[in-house]
Amino acid sequence: MHTPSLPATPGRPVASPRRAIHRSPLYIAPHEGEFLCDVDVLFDEHGHVYYADERPEDRDIDGILWERWGGVPSGPVAMAHHHPARQREVMDAGPKCGICGGEPDRDERGVLWLLHVDADTRATLTFPGDITTATPAVCRTDAFHALQACEVLQEGFIAVRVQEAEVVGVRGTVYSATEPPLLEQVVRLDDDAINRVVARQLMRQLRDAELDETTLATAGRRTRTRSGGATLDVPGPTWG
Ligand SMILES: [Zn+2]
Repeated sequence: MHTPSLPATPGRPVASPRRAIHRSPLYIAPHEGEFLCDVDVLFDEHGHVYYADERPEDRDIDGILWERWGGVPSGPVAMAHHHPARQREVMDAGPKCGICGGEPDRDERGVLWLLHVDADTRATLTFPGDITTATPAVCRTDAFHALQACEVLQEGFIAVRVQEAEVVGVRGTVYSATEPPLLEQVVRLDDDAINRVVARQLMRQLRDAELDETTLATAGRRTRTRSGGATLDVPGPTWG
């Protein structure tokens, strides 16, 4: 598996490399007209998951099985959720801004990431530090828009700058032949469980992320303590 530095991500083609980027209120958010398909998950003789009616597009270049969604991107968007194919597209490509699908903001400190973080988690963070996240990078314009429009971000956020953000795994549902499926699991690419996961989000590790307290300083900052946050077997905090 490649561990590339920004901006290039050789060896992991984007989901739709020649696809036109469409302006959307939030590019990676699912629309009302889109839905998760009900697909039977089975195990092959190696204990690896597959779909009963699997299609080539159900897997990525690494052979990981992904959630299959249907419908069309029409109607209101669910701001707090990710459409798997579009989240993977912007996370795998470059990376791209998760809101407009264009180039993220970049300066001498690295690429801009805007992350929701509750006050409890914020208190545990030290910088520079490693952060594993499903949240894509962001351009400066959309970072300001997001802070104005997203109540979740307004409850607490950090902006960080990152020089290196390798793809380290996926988040999804891990299946077992004997136990109920486990939801919302982060599985690293070198973990054997990668063969039993149906992925929903691509995860990047933001290496040595530095706190950026200047770029969005004029956007205002409100914080409110919220409980939650999962403990995951990955280096550094994970959220988003
Ligand atoms: Zn943008």
